[in-house]
This record gives sequence, C-alpha cells and structure tokens, in this order.
Amino acid sequence: MTGSVLIVSGPSGAGKSSLIKEILNHIPNAVFSVSVTTRKQRKGETCGVNYLFTDKKSFQKDIDGGLFLEWANVHGNFYGTSIEQITQSLKNGKLVVLDIDVQGYMIAKEKLEKFITSVFVTTKDKASLKNRLISRQADTKETIDTRVENAKKEMAFINEYEYLIINDDFNAARDAILSIAASAAHKRALTDKDEFILRWLKN
Ligand code: 5GP
Repeated sequence: MTGSVLIVSGPSGAGKSSLIKEILNHIPNAVFSVSVTTRKQRKGETCGVNYLFTDKKSFQKDIDGGLFLEWANVHGNFYGTSIEQITQSLKNGKLVVLDIDVQGYMIAKEKLEKFITSVFVTTKDKASLKNRLISRQADTKETIDTRVENAKKEMAFINEYEYLIINDDFNAARDAILSIAASAAHKRALTDKDEFILRWLKN
C-alpha cells in the first residue's frame, strides 16, 4: 500500500467540510472517504458523495460482517468507515481524507498509524460554534444543544492529534489545512521505503 491517510476531526459546525472541499480541489490524488451513516439525509446532501445513507439494520449487518475499519455512535446516529474503500485508495497511492469523530480516530490510529496524519479543527470558542450551528439552519435547537455538548467532550482529545486549526479566519485555516494535506501526501514515501531502496540500488 503506497497511499496515506489524513484524518480531520473536530466539532460539527467547525468548518471541516468546507476545509476538506479545499483539499479535494487543490491536492492532486486526494480522495474523500465516504462514510456510511444512519443519520437522516440533509438538504443539499447526495447519497454516495457526502455519505452512504442506510438504516440501522443494514448498518448492524455491516458491523457483524466486519466491513468497517471503525464505526461510532455520534449524537445518537451511527457512522462508519469502510475498510474496502480505504485499502483500495491506499493501494492506488491516494491521499484518503477522513472526516471522522474522535472515537473513530482513536480506533483508526491503532490500526493504520504509520499511514495517518491527523488534524483537529475547531472554532475559537464555544459561543462561535453555537452561532455557526444556528446559522447553518440544518438542525433543530435540540440537536444543536446535543452537538455543543458533544463538542465539549471532543475538545478533550485535542492532544491526541498532530495538528490543530482554529478556524476563525477561513482563508488562514484553508492555507493551514492545504499545507498539512500536502505534507501528509508525502508520507507515502515512508510506507514503501524498503521497496524504494531495493529499486534504487538495482538501477
Ligand atoms: P454530521 O452528522 O454533522 O455529518 O457528522 C457528525 C459527526 O460524525 C462529525 O463529527 C463527523 O466527523 C463524524 N463522522 C462522520 N463520518 C464518520 C465515520 O465514518 N466514523 C466516525 N467515527 N465518525 C464520523
């Protein structure tokens, strides 16, 4: 496997999706790992692009079948990363970008450590996060409160990540994530170094 993995975590509403879009538009070879979820499809989302939307029964079947690299219950919904998608992308030398929560990251780190670069994205404070969640008008007040509560717990994991981006000024955050993604893409050289050395010596 010659690709690498970039994991982006952080509270919902911190701007991860917009930053990931920038990576996909600017870093050659970057692909998004489309997660499977039992969450309801939001307006503007496309099945197979943003997520693969499914029901709890099928999700459980995939867990039992060992199809997930990691899965977690986030805000009462299930989310999971397909092993098949990740291994195929790694074999093809891609930079696979995962938008997953802290629980999923801790599991992925155990399994794929040498391939992973990790970044935590957050707002400058709790109030800014709440304002963003309100202004995107995607969730009910109850869901927003759950997301803010969850964000408080997620913040405790910051130290587990290699990089931290405080997404206060979008342009600055975009520059930061693009440089992190560019270096993550170069990690691939480390994963196949033995083969590279053999080839280098032969020619
Ligand atoms: P949202 O419902 O706002 O799209 O996502 C909610 C949370 O679920 C986000 O923090 C996102 O990072 C996380 N998430 C999305 N896909 C996955 C996944 O495959 N695994 C895990 N563990 N978390 C995920």
